[in-house]
Amino acid sequence: MSLVIKNGHVIDPASGTSERLDVLLDGASVAEIGAGLEGDETIDASGLVVCPGLVDLHVHFREPGQESKETIATGSRAAAHGGFTSVVTMANTDPPIDNAGTLELVIRRAKDTSCIKIWPSACATKQRAGKEMTEMAELKSVGAVAVTDDGDDIVSSWVMRRVLEYADMCGLTYIAHCEDKSLCDDGIMNEGYVSTRLGLPGIPKAMEEIMVERNIRLAGVAGARIHIAHISTADSVDIVRRAKARGVKVTCETAPHYWTLTDEALEGFDTNAKMNPPLREAVDVAAIKEGLADGTIDCIATDHAPHAFTEKDVEIPLAPFGIVGLETSLALTISELVEPGVITLERAVELMSWAPAQVLDLPVGYLKKGGPADVTLFDPKAEWTVCPELFHSRSHNTPFARRVVRGQVKATICCGQIIYQSE
Ligand SMILES: [Zn+2]
Repeated sequence: MSLVIKNGHVIDPASGTSERLDVLLDGASVAEIGAGLEGDETIDASGLVVCPGLVDLHVHFREPGQESKETIATGSRAAAHGGFTSVVTMANTDPPIDNAGTLELVIRRAKDTSCIKIWPSACATKQRAGKEMTEMAELKSVGAVAVTDDGDDIVSSWVMRRVLEYADMCGLTYIAHCEDKSLCDDGIMNEGYVSTRLGLPGIPKAMEEIMVERNIRLAGVAGARIHIAHISTADSVDIVRRAKARGVKVTCETAPHYWTLTDEALEGFDTNAKMNPPLREAVDVAAIKEGLADGTIDCIATDHAPHAFTEKDVEIPLAPFGIVGLETSLALTISELVEPGVITLERAVELMSWAPAQVLDLPVGYLKKGGPADVTLFDPKAEWTVCPELFHSRSHNTPFARRVVRGQVKATICCGQIIYQSE
C-alpha cells in the first residue's frame, strides 16, 4: 500500500530541500520525492510543512518501574502527538538499564507497545553509582545507542575519564548530565534575585558550568565524543562554543523551557516550573537563543519527564523535578524562535530531526528516496491553546497550560503508518 503526501512544503535539512513537492511512501520507505506523484492513498498537505519525523534525544518513559507516570506505550503516543517518530530513552528507570537483561526487556516492550522508534540508552556505570563501568560493548551489541547516567553526573573525574575512553572504544557517545551536587544538594530553583526574594534554596549556575567544563576537558583528554544534555546557562553555551573552536568532539542540546521561561515562572510557587537544571534568567535565555542560531547548540531535546499529578500537587520543596515536553516542543520552537525571527523554519526542522540524529548517528531524521518513511506534517501558522488534559502522555505536568502557541502537528507517520492525525 503506497501513500502520497501531496502539495506540502517539503523541508529536508539533510539535502537542503525547502520547496513544494510530493512525497510518496511505499511500506516503510520513501519511494519518491517529486512533482505530480500518485499513490493508493493520498494526504493533502496544502499549507503544511512536510518534514522528517522529529527526533528527540532525551526522554524519560519510566518503564520499567514507574509506569504510573508513563509507559513506553503512552510515551510513544505523546511523541506521535508531538510529531516525533524517534526518541532516545534515558536509562534512569527503576531498576536502571545497566545490564543486557534489562535493556532487552525495554527493547521487547518497545517492539510490542510503541508506535514510534525507541532508541534506548543504557547506563555508563552500574546502578548509576558512578563507580563501576557497565558492560558497554555488550549493551551496544544488544541495542544501546548511547551511554549515560542521566539524572546524575559521575562524581569521580577518574571514573568519568575511563567511561569516556571505554564508551568511545565501543563506538558509543556519552550523554552528560552536568551537575556538581557537592555545591548544593537541596536547591529548588536558580540561585539569584528571585530565589532570594521567594526564600527558596538556590541552584547556582556554577553547579552546571563546572561540570560542563570538566566533562568537556575529560572528553578532550580521552579523545572521545561527548554530548552535553540540557544546557541552561549563558556560560555553558560559551564553554561549548570555545571547546568546539578547539576541536573537541562535543555536541549539546537544550530544551524549550530554557528559551521560553525564566526563574520568574516560580513566582507563584508553581511546581510545574520546577525542573533540573532549573529555569534561569533573561541573560541565559538570550544566550540559549544565540547558541541555537549560531550552531553552538546542536539540537533541541525535550527532557520529557512525566510525573503524576499527586506528586506535583505538593509544596514546592517536596515536588519532583521535571516537566513533560513532547507535545509542546514543536509549537514552542515555532512560536518563540521562528516567529520572532531568531531562527528560520528550516533551521527549526534541522534542530528537531536531522541534527539530533547526527549526534548519535541514528539512521533517521531525513527525507530521501529509499530512506525511512518517517514523516511529520505540521501547520506552522495554526494557533492553538495548550490543554494538558488533551495530552496523550500519562502525565500532564507542564508550565505551559493555557498558553497560546503557533505551529500544530497535523499528522505523524512512522514506518509508513499514520500513527497520529488531527481531527
Ligand atoms: Zn539530566
